[in-house]
This record gives sequence, C-alpha cells and structure tokens, in this order.
Amino acid sequence: MHKTGYFTHPDCRRHDMGRGHPECPGRLDAIEDRMLASRLLDVVERREAPLASPEMLELAHDHMHVAAMRGLAEEASDEERAGGDGLVFIDPDTAMNRHTWTAVLRAAGAALAATDAVMAGELENAFCATRPPGHHACRDRAMGFCIINNVAVAARYALERHGLSRVAVVDFDVHHGNGTEDILAGDSRVLMVGLFQHPFYPYSGASPRGDNMVNLPVPAYTKGPAIRELIEKHWLPALDDFRPEMIFVSAGFDAHREDDLGQLGLVEADYAWITQQIRALARKHAKGRIVSCLEGGYNLDALGRSVEAHVRALADV
Ligand SMILES: [Zn+2]
Repeated sequence: MHKTGYFTHPDCRRHDMGRGHPECPGRLDAIEDRMLASRLLDVVERREAPLASPEMLELAHDHMHVAAMRGLAEEASDEERAGGDGLVFIDPDTAMNRHTWTAVLRAAGAALAATDAVMAGELENAFCATRPPGHHACRDRAMGFCIINNVAVAARYALERHGLSRVAVVDFDVHHGNGTEDILAGDSRVLMVGLFQHPFYPYSGASPRGDNMVNLPVPAYTKGPAIRELIEKHWLPALDDFRPEMIFVSAGFDAHREDDLGQLGLVEADYAWITQQIRALARKHAKGRIVSCLEGGYNLDALGRSVEAHVRALADV
C-alpha cells in the first residue's frame, strides 16, 4: 500500500488578509496548478478537508483562545457589513476576514481527517494543502499568519484519540515553529525536530524550551548541503532513537533560495531529500504514517515546484 492523500478545500482560499499580503489565496492556486501540470493529481488520492469541531482545537489551545478567534471572525463580518474592508488585525502581519474561521476549521479538519485516514490504513501518508498555516500559533495566542496550530492539534489528537504513545513533529519552515514548541515542549510523548534561520522572526528557538526539542538554528545564506549534513547529524539519529509511531510535518517552503521572506538556500531537490529521509524513518518505525501540513512558502513558483517535490517523495513516484 503506497497511497498518498491530498487534502484541500476551496474555503481555504477565502481567507484573505488584504492586497499584497504574502500569505495569499494564490498560494493554493500555485500548488494546485503544479499538482495538475505534473500529473501528481492522478497519483494522489484527493479528499475534501472537513470542518474540525472547535472542541478538537482545544487539544492544543486554551478554550479562551479558540473562543476569542471565533469572536474576531464575527467582528470581521460586522466590520464588512458596516462598510469597512472586513479585516480585523491580530498583529501587524495577521488578520481575519469573515471567511477566516471556516478556513481555520478546514485547515485543522484536514490535519485531523488525514490523521484518521492514515491511522485507519486507508492512506500511507498525506499532504494538506490548506491555509491559514499554524506553526506560530501558541497555546493562547495567534501570530505570524497563524491562528490555530494544525500540526499540534493533530499530534495531540493522534496521542489522545488514537492512543499512540510517541509522535514526532518535523518542521523545516524557514521560521522557528515557536507555537508548536510552546504547545508541545515538555510533552515526553512528542519529539520535535526543527531547522530555521536564526536570528530571524520570531526570534526564538536558539534555546529549546524542552528536552523533547531538537532545534537547529542556522545563519542566513546556509545552503542545502550544509543543511543536509545538520539533518543527518542531529535530526535523523534523534528520530531513530525516539521510534515515533507517526510523523507530522510542518511543511514550510520559505527556506527556498527564491523565497524573499527568508534567506536560506534550499532547492526542490533538498525538499525531496528531506522528505525521503522522513519517509524512510516513518516506514521503519511508524508503518509509513506521515501527515504533512503546509506552513510557509511565498514565492508562488518556487512553492509549487517545492510542493511537487515533497508530494512526489511522499508518494515515492
Ligand atoms: Zn515561515
């Protein structure tokens, strides 16, 4: 069984933080176009992302945070009805419109449904082409384009609802996954391995907040070969020792050399290689189970090509 799921939903396009914002609906079009042009859509099993039930979000977030975010989306609706631009800002980079809450529930719902399908053995692994992204969202705070932490919600769901004992989180976005660390640090059922440009937004991660965190801060302009060496030396042995029963991936593609939001030098072949390493570990310890969720990636062309490389490696084609 080598089946790769591809979870997405048109509602994820309707979340829009305003003209010129890099985390834009066109990101999903770029991915979809590339998946179509490369004929990968014929290889993967495409599924619609369901809506997560808001209670599930509380696996990783405070009740108050979930309620506050839902409330802000209502404010955005009121604002639009009153003749405004319909945007409510959480921080200078992060806003909600009246469609955001539904997109949030689809993005988390994709991660949860992918987890169910992989646990049931219907799929070996899955990629969720959804937005908003999640890895900066902390237990009680939205930030950095992120409202709800999809990967942390799904990781906790795998532990608490599917009864797994150990899950790993792999984060290769150019930015430190501070939200995931905030939620999962100190949870000995989780090993998180991350790699990110440092010093750089969100200016954290150099000192891990828990001994279940393997953080690799790298300076600007680091390229693929040096990053592969670090991964071989630090991530892979830690993951192998931990023997995860499932692997979640915060798949950000903004460490690509053509992405202006970061200054690292990864290319498509590096994303393919990283994914192959994750897949080999998943097959060794976790029956191949991987759920990967889109995080960053803002150069639309590079994003499409990088997702293609990632999904191709997941599907082993
Ligand atoms: Zn990022």
